[in-house]
Amino acid sequence: HSDSTYDYIVVGGGTSGLVIANRLSEQKNTSVLVIEAGGSVYNNPNVTDTLGYGKAFGTDIDWAYKTTDQEYAGGSSQTVRAGKALGGTSTINGMVYLRAQAAQINAWETVGNKGWNWESLLPYYKKGEQLQDPAQYPFLDGSGVAFDPAYHGFTGPLKVGWTSTQLNDGLAQKMNTTYQNLEVPVQYNRDPNGGDMVGYSLYPMTVDSELNIREDAARAYYYPYQNRTNLHIWLNTHANKLTWKDGPEVTANGVEVTLSNGTTAVVKATREVILAAGALKSPVLLELSGVGNPDILSKYGIATKINLPTVGENLQDQMNNGLQFDSKTSYSNKSADYVSYPSAAQLFPNSTAVGADLLRKLPAYAAQVASANGNITRTRDLYRFFKIQWDLIFKHGIPVAEILLEPSGTTYDTEYWASVPFSRGSVHLSSADPTAAAIIDPKYFMLDFDLHAQAQAARFIREIFQTKPLADMSGAETSPGLSTVSAGADDEGWADFIKGNYRSNFHPITTAAMLPKELGGVVDSSLKVYGTSNVRVVDASVLPFQVCGHLQSTIYAVAERAADIIKGRV
Ligand code: FAD
Repeated sequence: HSDSTYDYIVVGGGTSGLVIANRLSEQKNTSVLVIEAGGSVYNNPNVTDTLGYGKAFGTDIDWAYKTTDQEYAGGSSQTVRAGKALGGTSTINGMVYLRAQAAQINAWETVGNKGWNWESLLPYYKKGEQLQDPAQYPFLDGSGVAFDPAYHGFTGPLKVGWTSTQLNDGLAQKMNTTYQNLEVPVQYNRDPNGGDMVGYSLYPMTVDSELNIREDAARAYYYPYQNRTNLHIWLNTHANKLTWKDGPEVTANGVEVTLSNGTTAVVKATREVILAAGALKSPVLLELSGVGNPDILSKYGIATKINLPTVGENLQDQMNNGLQFDSKTSYSNKSADYVSYPSAAQLFPNSTAVGADLLRKLPAYAAQVASANGNITRTRDLYRFFKIQWDLIFKHGIPVAEILLEPSGTTYDTEYWASVPFSRGSVHLSSADPTAAAIIDPKYFMLDFDLHAQAQAARFIREIFQTKPLADMSGAETSPGLSTVSAGADDEGWADFIKGNYRSNFHPITTAAMLPKELGGVVDSSLKVYGTSNVRVVDASVLPFQVCGHLQSTIYAVAERAADIIKGRV
């Protein structure tokens, strides 16, 4: 295929890439090629099994990226998982379908991305979605699952709903009573996907309720459309870098790839090259193509095509921890999609003081993040982003933590994370060799508010387990346990447990940020890379700020909107 030419080349056949490929190939006269490093996982039980979360980890469909040793977080390296398959990370993720707080998406516009707000994104969340009404599935009777039809789509490609293993023994209702009985109650929220997430909810998942198998990007956006003659996919093909046309404009005309047989080829694009390789790959592909920080590129002998030093900066993730408690009931092979999203006023007993203290620290935080990357991202821009984040937390009341309850065997597992950490790091290439591992440094726990919020979420979980009826249904805290972290421990008292046991929450974003160029943006509000005439990024890299909820629903929606932008409809 080495002399082939296409209108559009999409690099990465993952969550966002397959949305773009599907929507562009709706135009019959438009040819689209998707380049995907992985293969098909249509019949891979580690993918399809709805109770199989984690089974794909460490297998050949997991990129298993390694971070640098995390100096603020106990010194060790973390594994950041990502799917290497047609369907990308949607084939190995936790299938949770939770969007964002409306005010968070509105902040994208506030910071300078015209046209990007909750109101303009909601139609795209819906466009992609095919919610399967739980009333159609008798196995969901009594489970407590619910939704508000105003916020959902019913005819899109992506099936969203609940599995046949959903617990329906009354635990959902008891959790609700427990949340109402807290000293500062967390109210029931019937549908957390309508732009207000605060509260206690049962959330839907990306699942085919009929077949009880995972719904991933390939099942939603590719397989039903694979007969389109203008839609092409090269599997097991690694994109190495973009190729450029000669001339005054910076225009991509193709992609250099390594084919499955090991040979290198260049495939041509006549219109656009669209990067969708994920937040830890797309910025590295830009660098390999000469787009980035000249000081970094020159170290590896790469000539600078576009001086865009913030490529790979602003990397944000969350940190995931868990507490475990004995359960007096035994649960087997059931799913319980129970989430709570406390606001700052609900999580922090002294929220006003916490807010005032954090506000005083923001200038120092901004300076610290800037100096860690040699002021490539600037203190004044970071301060602006941090102040927006502060406003979201303390004025708009977004959730500051997410708490998931997962009964398993005779244990109540919880997973939790502070929703919007302030720490920011980077991802950069380590070599001109496109197969070399990148240098990934999220700088977990660099800023002390991030530890404080993470510790406070743990205290909050302890309070939940001391509140009836959950208190009567559960036994001792088995991890970390009161002998490891005493009741009433301060942040210092929690630090060893948190930093010794956290993992990446697998939500890396902002490494090719959609922001005005003068604020350090890499792509403009049409997702085009600054300085190029025809290169876009459409994946998690472009999200300007972290979202509460999980990433996939927002990534699907952003890609849906991106497709309309490329088609000239927005
Ligand atoms: P991806 O879907 O990762 O797509 C990138 C694609 O590019 C991949 O297919 C990859 O193989 C390919 N690629 C990369 N480099 C190259 C190259 N050089 N050449 C060719 N192809 C390349 N989100 C949720 O909403 N709910 C959850 O429950 C949830 N759980 C998660 C659990 C885990 C373990 C992980 C890792 C993530 C989870 N997420 C969850 C996050 C969410 O799944 C991801 O943020 C999202 O899928 C990323 O989409 P993307 O389009 O940015 O990238």
